Amino acid sequence: MRYYSTNLKSPEVGLKEAVLKGLAPDNGLYMPDYISGLSTEFFRKLPELSLPEIGFEVTKLLFEDEIDLKTLKEINEDALSFEIPLVSLSENIKTLELFHGPTCAFKDVGGRFIARLMAHLTRGEDNEINVLTATSGDTGSAVASGFYNVEGINVFILFPKGKVSHIQEQQLTTYGGNITAIEIDGTFDDCQKLVKTAFLDKELNEKLTLTSANSINLARFLPQSFYYFSGYGQLGQNPGEVVMAVPSGNFGNLTAGLIAKKMGLPIKRFIAATNVNDVVPEYLNDGEFNPRPSIKTIANAMDVGNPSNFARMLDLFENSHEKMSAEIQGYRLNDEGIRSYMKEIYEQYHYVADPHGAVGYGALKELLKENETGIFFETAHPAKFKDVVDDTLKIDSEIPERLKVFLNKEKKAHNLGIDFNEFKSFLIG
Ligand SMILES: *Cc1c(COP(=O)(O)O)cnc(C)c1O
Repeated sequence: MRYYSTNLKSPEVGLKEAVLKGLAPDNGLYMPDYISGLSTEFFRKLPELSLPEIGFEVTKLLFEDEIDLKTLKEINEDALSFEIPLVSLSENIKTLELFHGPTCAFKDVGGRFIARLMAHLTRGEDNEINVLTATSGDTGSAVASGFYNVEGINVFILFPKGKVSHIQEQQLTTYGGNITAIEIDGTFDDCQKLVKTAFLDKELNEKLTLTSANSINLARFLPQSFYYFSGYGQLGQNPGEVVMAVPSGNFGNLTAGLIAKKMGLPIKRFIAATNVNDVVPEYLNDGEFNPRPSIKTIANAMDVGNPSNFARMLDLFENSHEKMSAEIQGYRLNDEGIRSYMKEIYEQYHYVADPHGAVGYGALKELLKENETGIFFETAHPAKFKDVVDDTLKIDSEIPERLKVFLNKEKKAHNLGIDFNEFKSFLIG
C-alpha cells in the first residue's frame, strides 16, 4: 500500500514513512492509495467477530504488505483489549460506548494502536522518536497512556491552559518519565499550529526526529473505523438503515467512519454533530468553509475551529460539496442545548451522558426519521466532565477507579506561550 498526501504535492510513501512523518511535507494529510472492500463473508460473520478480529481484518486490507500477519494480529489484540458495547436506549436509538479504555475516551483506540504500531516500525533503531501532540483534552492522555514507557519514544503533549477539565489535566500532567506535558497560554488551535509549524521547520527536523500522534496521523485515525463495524455488528443480522451520529471536533472520528463505509459497511448517512464550533455543519449547509478561532464550550474536546481532517473528507468526496452533503448531515448544539439533552437522556432513560455524547443524542432526536435506527457515539466517560455533569443533573456521579488514581498525583507541566521560537528552543533543549 502507498499513501498519498491530500495536497498532492509530495511523493507517495510507504506505511513507515507515513506514520513517522505524520504530516506530509506539502502540509497535506496522508491517505491510503486505494481502499478495498471487505468480503461478503466478513459481513456475514460480523455480529460474531470480536473487536481485535475486526481490527485484524480491516488492517490486513490496509497494511498487509508492510506488516506480517502475526505482528498485525498481536498489535490488534494488545491495543483493543477492552469492550465497546452498544447500549440500547430505545427501540431505535442506541449508543456505542467508546469509553471503556484506560483513559475513558474513544481516543484510546487510536492512541493504543499507534503506540504499538510505531514501536514495531522503529524497533532496533538508534534514533529517538519525538511524538508531538496537541490536545483539546482527551487525545493527550490517550497518547500518553499508549506510549508511556515505550522505549526510544519521547512524547510532548501541548494543551491549552485552563481549557481542559480538572480530571483531564491530571491525566495529562502526572505521567512523567518519557511523557512531557506543556501548558500553552492559548487555545487548542494555537497548540495545533505550534505542532504543525514544528513539522515544517527545517532546522528542527534536522536536529530531531519528529512525528505526530494526532488524528492527522493515519495510524491514529484509521483504527477508529473498527468500532463502526463493531457497533453495526452488535445490531445483529440485517439491521436495516443505520444512521451514525458522531460528536465531532477535529473530525478524525467521522472520517474513520467514511473509510468504514468505503470498505462496504452499509451506513445510510452520518451526522456531523458539533457544539457551536460548527464550521463543518456550516459547510454542509451552504458549501462555504470558514475556519475561525475556536470558542470554549462545555464539550471542550470538540472546541476546534479549523478541523484538520476536513482535508481528508474533501479528498474522499473529490472536493464535491454535493457528494459530501448527500452522505453527511450537519448538526450543532449550543451549551444550553447540550445541557438540556443531558437532562433528557437522564430523565427518560436513567442514562448519564457526557456533554459530547449528548450532542450526538440531540442529533438523533432531531434528525432521525421514523424507519431508521440511529447510533450515537458516547465518546467519553461522563466522569471526565464531572463538574458539568453533576451541575447539570444535580447528582454526584461516580468516578471509575482508573480515573481516581490520577487525582492524587502531582502535576508536572512546563508553561509556554504561543511563540514558535520559544517552543522550538524548548524542544531542542
Ligand atoms: C476528541 C473528542 C471528540 C472529537 O473527535 P474528533 O475525532 O476530533 O472529531 C469528541 N468527543 C470527545 C470526548 C473527544 O475526546
